[in-house]
Amino acid sequence: MTHDDAVLEPELAIIGAGPAGLTAGVFAVDKGIDTVILEGGRAGGQLATLYPHKPVYNYPGNSGIPAGSLAKRMVRQAVESGVAPSEECEVSGLRIVENGISVETDRARYLVSAVILACGMGLVLPRRLEVDGEREVEGKKLFYVIDDPDGWNETKVVVVGGGDGAADNALLLARHAAEVTIIHRREALRAQERTVEALRSAGVRMLLGWDVGHIVDSTDGISLHVKRADGGEERRIDCLRVLVNIGVRANTDFLRTLPLERVKARVAVDTEMRTSADGVFACGDLVAYPGKSRLIVTAVGEAATAVNSVERYLRKRRH
Ligand SMILES: Cc1cc2nc3c(=O)[nH]c(=O)nc-3n(C[C@H](O)[C@H](O)[C@H](O)COP(=O)(O)OP(=O)(O)OC[C@H]3O[C@@H](n4cnc5c(N)ncnc54)[C@H](O)[C@@H]3O)c2cc1C
Repeated sequence: MTHDDAVLEPELAIIGAGPAGLTAGVFAVDKGIDTVILEGGRAGGQLATLYPHKPVYNYPGNSGIPAGSLAKRMVRQAVESGVAPSEECEVSGLRIVENGISVETDRARYLVSAVILACGMGLVLPRRLEVDGEREVEGKKLFYVIDDPDGWNETKVVVVGGGDGAADNALLLARHAAEVTIIHRREALRAQERTVEALRSAGVRMLLGWDVGHIVDSTDGISLHVKRADGGEERRIDCLRVLVNIGVRANTDFLRTLPLERVKARVAVDTEMRTSADGVFACGDLVAYPGKSRLIVTAVGEAATAVNSVERYLRKRRH
């Protein structure tokens, strides 16, 4: 469509329907602010897309809930509050214009008075190993997300990665697979000590200080050719399935048209979640301030603060 076709004019556009955006939506409609939530993928954020089966232990009132279920509850609450997120509606550009902020998507253009950026690190994609043979087995024997843990039952599995995500997933797979090995390029996992202990107790094998060199597909499974990170010894590890959890590729390029103060890839905010651009507020994983921690609880708390600030901003604008 051309952008002249439709211009929608809610007061507030929230970009992203993860924990931050969904919470902001609930608070905004509660305050009577005419709001849209624009979500480039599926609602639920990282919980739904990156770790749906991982239990979340640190969200109040929901100890051990699988992240995907927590995300569904948040989406349901937003829908029931009257602010159903528009899914598959990627925001491609934002511009400050004379009478507000122009928000561009491939479906429509919105002219709004205020924006809350709640887009995490953008439409993230899992980071690939970028080694020979990887693309040929992607989605067949090599995965970046566990869609269905039962699909891993009784298999011999390798998990590549050493952070919390990889460790949590290895622990989950240890309950399903016949054998789990973690391969990590550093000499120690970066995951929480409690998780590392649990991995040891569950009998997960650890190959630390090893890099994946290339991957070979075969009728029996898949072979990972690994070498010592210092370039010495080489080995072949045979398995049936591989899970790669080495982080995500961020994409926040669509924010470049706004005059935002950045802290590396993040957006600087003050204690009221105001950015350096007039009418633009931000919350959740996207933001940076001293002491920021990237958690669901902080994202939802910042969302409430951002909406309070939007309310004050709109009140001033109206008078
Ligand atoms: C493996 C893993 C395990 C974790 N475990 C925990 C845990 O146990 N407890 C905990 O508290 N935290 C955990 N976290 C961190 C937690 O998930 C994040 O802090 C939280 O998701 C941040 O929420 P958010 O709403 O800011 O961002 P996100 O969850 O990233 O949501 C942002 C949303 O914005 C959308 N979006 C991005 N760009 C655009 C665009 N251009 N247009 C429209 N929409 C867009 C995205 O599709 C996404 O849905 C974990 C993270 C990972 C990766």
